[in-house]
Amino acid sequence: MIKTSRAIADILIVDDDSSVVIALNKALNKIGRIRFASDAKRAFTMIEEKHPDLILLDVELPDIGGLEVCSMLKSALETENIPILFITSHTEMGFEEKVFDVGAADYITKPLNPIVVAARVQTHLDYHLAIRLLEKQAHTDSMTGLANRRTFDERLIVELKRARREKEPLSVALIDIDEFKKFNDHFGHIEGDDCIKSIASSLGMGLKRSTDLAARYGGEEFAFILPNTDAEGAKTLLSSLLKSIEHLNLSHAPEAKYDVVTISIGFSTIKPELKYENNSDDWAVVKAADHALYKSKENGRNQVSYESIDSH
Ligand code: GH3
Ligand code: MG
Ligand code: MG
Ligand code: MG
Repeated sequence: MIKTSRAIADILIVDDDSSVVIALNKALNKIGRIRFASDAKRAFTMIEEKHPDLILLDVELPDIGGLEVCSMLKSALETENIPILFITSHTEMGFEEKVFDVGAADYITKPLNPIVVAARVQTHLDYHLAIRLLEKQAHTDSMTGLANRRTFDERLIVELKRARREKEPLSVALIDIDEFKKFNDHFGHIEGDDCIKSIASSLGMGLKRSTDLAARYGGEEFAFILPNTDAEGAKTLLSSLLKSIEHLNLSHAPEAKYDVVTISIGFSTIKPELKYENNSDDWAVVKAADHALYKSKENGRNQVSYESIDSH
């Protein structure tokens, strides 16, 4: 079985019938941490605060119908992946279709059989947690633990849209280790990998805002997405990161220009006042950052350069 990072599952039971809640609690308390809500309103609050791994939902609730609650959860980005299992005494024709139609994972009929309930819930939990783990792996660079190129590409589109909508600036930086071929040639690829990991870890820790993204862009190249960060703010942050890499004091190859391993950085910024009409402009900020990186290399490495997006 695939091991998942979360040891104890969080299960939310939404039902206004206390006898059902008691029965479910008894059936499930060995599987996970159980929480209850007796109506939809309380359920939404709990879902937002506690992010349950699975929801058991009564079809008839005092405020909003269970089917509607399920539809709402399935159409919101933050909750669409939570498996929802209905608890029902409905056995009439067509009911099954209705339940699956609104996106439920399964349904359990009353009277409840504790062994069946536990088995079904466990199956859906395992499946859900395995998918989450695979999704995480698909978006992470396994060597460094940073986001991978796919995540960078996906997030860039989302953040560009947000920046335009909110009329906020956005900076993108590309980072490349200086004279890394010489490092590999001198110390070997294993040491080279360790060096990439150290730099990745420092870069990752150097970004403080939860909305910032540090990704491994390619071999010994990294990329940042810095939402709501203007050129001046980006320059300050990137200059301090550049220094922090130098201060790691990782010995470089004797053939290299500097005694210690350094990086070069290029960045560009989308200004809120600029109008971008279509998606073909999405990569202009990356292209400009790439040109800026080239300038840093040309001008002697171990420095930060900016290039305006207007020229791209
Ligand atoms: P520059 O300062 O111009 O960037 O010089 P450079 O030698 O770093 O040149 P470039 O960036 O083109 O070369 C990158 C080298 O990094 C090529 C490759 O041997 C090495 N490299 C890329 N990915 C990895 C990796 O995952 N592990 C190791 N050990 N080396 C890598
Ligand atoms: Mg009810
Ligand atoms: Mg490179
Ligand atoms: Mg390089």
